[in-house]
Amino acid sequence: MKKKSLAALVISSMVLISTLVGCGSSSDSTKTASKKYIIATDATYAPFEFKSGSNYTGIDIDILNAISKKENFKYELKPMNFEGIIPALQANQIDGSISGMSITDERKKSLDFSDPYYDSGLAIVVKSNSTIKGLADIKGKTASLKKGTAGATFAEGNKDKYNLNLKYFDDTPTMFQAVLNGNADIAFEDYPVISYEIAVNPNSGLKIAGKKVTTSPYGFAVNKGKNAELLKMFNDGLKKIKADGEYDKIINKYIKSK
Ligand code: GLN
Repeated sequence: MKKKSLAALVISSMVLISTLVGCGSSSDSTKTASKKYIIATDATYAPFEFKSGSNYTGIDIDILNAISKKENFKYELKPMNFEGIIPALQANQIDGSISGMSITDERKKSLDFSDPYYDSGLAIVVKSNSTIKGLADIKGKTASLKKGTAGATFAEGNKDKYNLNLKYFDDTPTMFQAVLNGNADIAFEDYPVISYEIAVNPNSGLKIAGKKVTTSPYGFAVNKGKNAELLKMFNDGLKKIKADGEYDKIINKYIKSK
């Protein structure tokens, strides 16, 4: 009798332990399922991200949204000035970034990038009546740059070669404004961004001078060694939306000529 009740006690405590362990693991998976990733985006970067009414829209936003549905993760969008995004990733204040960010070797030292999701590159932006036709004409000119961008890095690297005077701005609209009001002769901006601006706003007063001066693909980024599961979900989801045509639909919604 005594033996039996001891066995019962052992069994019931085993049941209790396994229930507790079970509870632990089930609450862990609930935690993963309900985790909300904070994903930064540039605040003003049409056609990749821009405000439409009270919501954000654009290629990056639609791609992220489509991928999050395929991969079943939740996120909160955090629009920021582009310059703040990489430091915020490095400080783990945000989990990821989709912000028309070019994949560069320098950035790869501190960030992990997804597979490339869009081919871009820099163009020279000038006022509609400018005689500047390309790199050959930019000697001694003032360049309007957006802080922290590949465009700024390009201008800094070519400052001495072209004897450039550099002026920095927080976002794309103010960078373009400097060209429009004559405070700068040129701006360096990604080709699809200036092309879209001219297409949706034929009276923008801006034009593209010559051909692309660089080519660079965009990637979704996380801090190096962090959020590997998020990066994997992005890559897996990207493959799925490319395979089922959703990716093309998104691009065609914003880029008419592609
Ligand atoms: N593609 C550029 C970069 O990565 C600009 C990005 C942006 O201005 N949002 O620096």
